[in-house]
Amino acid sequence: MPLRPCPVCRTPVSWEGNPFKPFCSDRCRTRDLGAWSSESYRLPAKPDEEDGESWSDASDSE
Ligand SMILES: [Zn+2]
Repeated sequence: MPLRPCPVCRTPVSWEGNPFKPFCSDRCRTRDLGAWSSESYRLPAKPDEEDGESWSDASDSE
């Protein structure tokens, strides 16, 4: 399996058996996710969030 450069720090990492792929580590993964969720990218608002009220009823009743 070829090594791939980590998108964050460019360290060549093997994807095989790597739970953090394509990143080299949990730190880089978190860093990348944090960067794109707070900076350049914005996820569109989930249209089904308002519709999802019905399921929360079930888990709310204990
Ligand atoms: Zn990295």
